[in-house]
Amino acid sequence: MSDSKRLLSRREALGGLLVLPALAGLLASTTSIAEAKSSKASVKYQSHPKGSQKCSGCRFFQAGKTPSAMGTCKIVEGAISPNGWCTAFTAK
Ligand code: SF4
Repeated sequence: MSDSKRLLSRREALGGLLVLPALAGLLASTTSIAEAKSSKASVKYQSHPKGSQKCSGCRFFQAGKTPSAMGTCKIVEGAISPNGWCTAFTAK
């Protein structure tokens, strides 16, 4: 193998080693962005229904241990009342 080919192979190998951590970092940051939830204030969360709309009827609601217990929301942070409501309400 000539010196130029050996040098190129070493460069390619080092380039690959540098790209892998960069890709891992990009994937980690993308995942954390996807998992970020909105604050209650940003979606005007309230602990009571708006008309017939309430969290227990929303596709993003994750019920607590009982139907009346506080649950969570897939897109809004914190404890969520099954009788709550926010501007992101989306019927099941
Ligand atoms: S998106 Fe809003 S209305 Fe729906 S469950 Fe979450 S907090 Fe409740």
